[in-house]
Amino acid sequence: METGVTLERGIELACSAPFTRHTEKVSLDEAADRVLAAHLASKVDDPRFDNSAMDGWAVRAEDCLQDGAELRMIGTSQAGANAPPPVASGEACRIMTGAPMPEGADAIVMIEDSEETDGLVRISGPARPNYIRRRGENLILDQIALHAGTQMSPAAVSLAATMGHDEIEVVARPRIAVISTGDELVPPGQELSEGEIHESNSYGLASLVERMGGEAVRFDIIHDTIEGLRDALDSAANDCDALVTSGGVSMGQWDLVRKLMEEEGTPLFWRLRLSPGGPPIFGTWKGTPLFGLPGNPVSSHVVFIALVAPWMSHCMEAHPELGPKLAEKVKVKLVDSVRGARGKLCMRRIMIKPAGDGLSASVHTHQGSGNIHSMVAHNGLTLLPPDTDAEAGDTIDALWLR
Ligand code: AMP
Ligand code: MG
Repeated sequence: METGVTLERGIELACSAPFTRHTEKVSLDEAADRVLAAHLASKVDDPRFDNSAMDGWAVRAEDCLQDGAELRMIGTSQAGANAPPPVASGEACRIMTGAPMPEGADAIVMIEDSEETDGLVRISGPARPNYIRRRGENLILDQIALHAGTQMSPAAVSLAATMGHDEIEVVARPRIAVISTGDELVPPGQELSEGEIHESNSYGLASLVERMGGEAVRFDIIHDTIEGLRDALDSAANDCDALVTSGGVSMGQWDLVRKLMEEEGTPLFWRLRLSPGGPPIFGTWKGTPLFGLPGNPVSSHVVFIALVAPWMSHCMEAHPELGPKLAEKVKVKLVDSVRGARGKLCMRRIMIKPAGDGLSASVHTHQGSGNIHSMVAHNGLTLLPPDTDAEAGDTIDALWLR
């Protein structure tokens, strides 16, 4: 087991643990936010035929060079109807948006630029070839327009349908157990006795799992006993693709997740050079990856964003730009000074906003690792290198949270 590893090394070790990616077919109704498992090629040209971008008249441009030109109206091209009549010199065919271009016509006059009386159309505006949408100008048959690893945005779902797919192959959502440990924890909604607090981490961690495209299986609170914890880990490992625990990984006497992993699991590292979130442990429990996150609410959240999310991207083979993500790396100009951490990458909470040509970042609440409010009152995290303080006016790297 390695100890005190950098975040990069922690991610590398996590990604080295075996993980089998499964795929499944889903209908487009179920496709939103899923991660595409294979490239998707178009089954059609888009557009399928030359058509009009406007309601108006399909004409020959050369007939409309003079303002007030009069053309004989010969019929209508309607979306979805049979082929329209061909347009000869001196003729105009009424055309609707998306309807096929009649043969012989090479331009469109907008309906607003015309007047129609007794079968004659008087043209008072330009006849434009660029109001024609050309066959295949968006996509051609067999073109790959959606790449493996893409998270299906609403537009991507529409595009899949445009390309003729009624179902798509997606990555099966990794089933991730979320287990909170601690004798002091009581579910929200229940009365608290002396020394007790509401359990909160599992709800946030489960949301993070889902945002990353996983399926969270939130367990009931596990109290600090070796037997109870062992049973929970066994049943979670049986049922899920990975385990995320919170609490019980520090140096304390009751830090049983770490103790159990060291004695009965296969830990790969303990402690990250990261602040907040120093004490996580990672390894496998009976062959299943286990992330033992710290109990402090901010720490567990930050370690998920910094460590577990990249691991999930790796496991799902997500596209680096188009896959699920919790944060975007950006440069920000500090409004307030922020203190770094000795020997650790420091992720302080900051509020990132557009300012001038770039982004500014300010600090608004107490930064303690127990203060989950700081994760809500801010929308970003600093990426201050170890042993680095930053002053107001400095430009630093940061994560802009989604
Ligand atoms: P631990 O890592 O178990 O020593 O916990 C560190 C701190 O985080 C303690 O103050 C715990 O009460 C708190 N904590 C641990 N687990 C949770 C949880 N699931 N929800 C809220 N706070 C927690
Ligand atoms: Mg604890």
